[in-house]
Amino acid sequence: MQLAARAEAAGEVPVGAVLIKDGQVLGEGWNLSICRHDPTAHAEIQAIRQAGSALQNYRMPDCTLYVTLEPCAMCAGALVHSRVQRLVFGATDLKAGACGSVVDLVRHPQLNHQLEVQSGVLAEACAAQLSGFFQKRRAEQKALKQQKNSALPAETQPQISTAAQSGDVAS
Ligand code: ZN
Repeated sequence: MQLAARAEAAGEVPVGAVLIKDGQVLGEGWNLSICRHDPTAHAEIQAIRQAGSALQNYRMPDCTLYVTLEPCAMCAGALVHSRVQRLVFGATDLKAGACGSVVDLVRHPQLNHQLEVQSGVLAEACAAQLSGFFQKRRAEQKALKQQKNSALPAETQPQISTAAQSGDVAS
């Protein structure tokens, strides 16, 4: 959740992840998709990349990934590829969750690796962090829109008069 707060501070959806082996942090990450212009820059992917570098291995058996929000299909796929043993997450994502909500890729019987999954850990706190962010962002967008609307007549007025002056005369 502290890593998720770093994402929020950067204007990103607050999701944070850590990858642990034998009680040691091998990788950590927070959502950076907007800042990096990168749809793959999710917290889990950052944590997995860092852990791969730390282990010098693209497989991560005996590792646990903790994340504040249920992973999406992309991250769930990366967890299967990395052979992470266990996934622990907080809030469920009913719209995009790929670990039980929309689909379950991390426990799919036809894939060649299944993770142990523990969901709902600090779920309320994680969900509150996310919904607080979206509430704040909606309020900011609304305020911005109102500011734009109230500024609109003053801005459009000179443009209209300029167009009328040059319009008929020129053509
Ligand atoms: Zn993801």
